[in-house]
Amino acid sequence: MSPRSDPAWHLSVLDRPVPMLLAVTGRVEVAAGSRRDDALLGAVTRLVQDLLEAAPGRAEEPPVRALDLPVPVLDYLLVQLHRREFGPVVALRRPCRRCQAPAEASFPLDDLEAARQPRLDGAELVRPGVFRCDGSVLRVPTARDLLESPDEVSLMERLVEGQLEPDSVAVVDAWLARLCPRMAADVAVECAECGLVDTWELALDEHLLLVLERERPLLWREVDLLARWYGWGLDPILGLARSDRHHLVALAATGSFS
Ligand SMILES: [Zn+2]
Repeated sequence: MSPRSDPAWHLSVLDRPVPMLLAVTGRVEVAAGSRRDDALLGAVTRLVQDLLEAAPGRAEEPPVRALDLPVPVLDYLLVQLHRREFGPVVALRRPCRRCQAPAEASFPLDDLEAARQPRLDGAELVRPGVFRCDGSVLRVPTARDLLESPDEVSLMERLVEGQLEPDSVAVVDAWLARLCPRMAADVAVECAECGLVDTWELALDEHLLLVLERERPLLWREVDLLARWYGWGLDPILGLARSDRHHLVALAATGSFS
């Protein structure tokens, strides 16, 4: 991802630079779209993993696994992914809850990212990703922690060093919300048809998967056009970066490239 600008908090939760993500290719888009029925976190974790894995000749050792990234880092990567592939503003389209007319709202990624940063003040850093918080020593959860914990208490037992005391559950829960805030925001929207003022919840992980799925018909139209225009097979076209594919389609459509 370029230019590189790791968030200031990252060294407190990760003992290495934030990994870079490759450009989204058609192959990644197809895989992401076919995961719509998977649990959301599992699906976005695999989306990020696809973009990490695809790096050719990556020298980084040991290789980064998306599942083992602290969730704030994973979320940060999703923000960067949206910023690069879809721009700095999240555009939401949903039917109005009252009249079903299509309604639209937008939300700046900067605001989402600011709200999503771990709040580390008052927590004493023990080592990257581990903090002493009001007497408990807590690890910031990874995607694996969330996926493998059947409930909140199991998650806390997994993250707390030593025994989770019953009377510290509420305190640990509150600290987890500060160390790993949920990447979601409420977005106010007014229906242009009926005037209903509503509040939509924006969850970036869900939104990214939805946008990739919605783009599927466009992807196949672009594949079809490039195959016929350049005589390429499916594999090389699906291996193109999404932005390069758009660019080539624009050139082919105007006939300015031969
Ligand atoms: Zn309406």
